[in-house]
Amino acid sequence: MDKVLNTKRLRGKSAGPARPSRTEAEDAVRTLIRWAGDDPSREGLRSTPSRVVRAYEEWFSGYNDDPREYLKRTFEETGGYDEVVVLRDIRFESHCEHHIAPIIGRVHIGYLPRNRVVGISKLARLVEVYARRLQIQEKMTAEIAACLDAVLKPHGVAVVTEATHQCMTTRGVHKPGVTMVTSRMLGVFRDHAETRQEFLSAIGMRGVINGSSGSG
Ligand SMILES: [Zn+2]
Repeated sequence: MDKVLNTKRLRGKSAGPARPSRTEAEDAVRTLIRWAGDDPSREGLRSTPSRVVRAYEEWFSGYNDDPREYLKRTFEETGGYDEVVVLRDIRFESHCEHHIAPIIGRVHIGYLPRNRVVGISKLARLVEVYARRLQIQEKMTAEIAACLDAVLKPHGVAVVTEATHQCMTTRGVHKPGVTMVTSRMLGVFRDHAETRQEFLSAIGMRGVINGSSGSG
């Protein structure tokens, strides 16, 4: 397992500092357990470092993938379809880059195709790749929009993300039930109120977001 993972990770070798070994990562978890005030050598915690490190491989697997390359391989011709495409309620789980606490929510994507469309599962996968990285919601929303815009070259892209941040609900200000909404509107969704409203109606958010939010 180690070997496979290391081979995959080599693709990203140019970016960032060298990746620590699995043993170093597990040691770091032991340190955090001690920091929490517990004893990492006690029975119930003995396998926790290896479990946490494996969980990290899953939660942060998005660093292994380049969604632009992925979408480039998978787009299809529109066959004359020229209406807005909307995919709503794409559930995602991510982690905030400030606390490594879960961000859980939904992404809604709309675009007006020019010549290219992608399948529903591809859009969901696109969201997953960006979600499985350390994130802030604003950046994730913008990255999804920019990726679709760059690869599909549509007339416009709209992305709205709604999420709760557990760093806000379980600690700090302790505000359960608060949802953060971010949006990025490009092309016709930014420039034409009617097209933007069509999208916002489709996702049930008409009137919530205006054209200037998240653009630029
Ligand atoms: Zn946070």
